[in-house]
Amino acid sequence: MSEIQALRANLQTIEARIASAAERAGRRAEDVTLLLATKTVPAARVAQTLAINPYIFGENKVLEGEEKAQTLDAMDLSTPARWHLIGHLQTNKVKYALRYVDCIQSVDRFRLLERLDQRLQFEGRALDIMLQVNTSQEASKYGVPPEEVLALARRAASFDTLRIRGLMTIGKLGQSAEAARPGFRQLRECRDRLLAEGIEGCEPHELSMGMSGDLEVAVEEGATIVRVGTAVFGERAYPDAYYWPS
Ligand SMILES: *Cc1c(COP(=O)(O)O)cnc(C)c1O
Repeated sequence: MSEIQALRANLQTIEARIASAAERAGRRAEDVTLLLATKTVPAARVAQTLAINPYIFGENKVLEGEEKAQTLDAMDLSTPARWHLIGHLQTNKVKYALRYVDCIQSVDRFRLLERLDQRLQFEGRALDIMLQVNTSQEASKYGVPPEEVLALARRAASFDTLRIRGLMTIGKLGQSAEAARPGFRQLRECRDRLLAEGIEGCEPHELSMGMSGDLEVAVEEGATIVRVGTAVFGERAYPDAYYWPS
């Protein structure tokens, strides 16, 4: 099987997994967007994937993503790539992230909101963001604690430059996919509470949750975006600790 055939087959498998989980949950598969997590995946391979379908890509490291975005831009493809940032964002990298991302899913603190607003005001535009919530009770993980989401959302909504599109979480890893369910459910409850607050400028409908190992559970719990890497591109050479705190 050629590399492209393998890629197509993997994507079909993932789409079938999403479809059957959606069916079980009485949801429509079209209401779940597949975002491809491309950390360590070379630009040429991202371009092959884009030729199959106009997927959204997610990068963890600002500079790794920017390099890929530039390479793809230079290829002048018929479908331009769309990028979300899904990894921890340091305030001193905000300027670089804003050069290529459409959405930052990993917003998790006041200081970052302020820095984003400052830079976006300077550029005279607005940006889609999502708030990352730490639902796994692991102190090591990034994300705002669930009980602080409301305060962060209120602050974010006070900036005209930031459009809150939803919430993101990384599920509990390791054991079984089921281990992630309570965290996913908690994210959905957080989202529902936020919506009920009716904060002006805050419409957090999206739930970004679920990865290669637990996407079915996430779809059952209401995910509108699942973020998949390994199941499409294969195992990564770097351990995830290189991208996440451990
Ligand atoms: C790597 C990564 C994913 C995808 O994980 P896989 O297990 O490879 O599917 C999803 N979300 C984030 C934040 C990631 O860093």
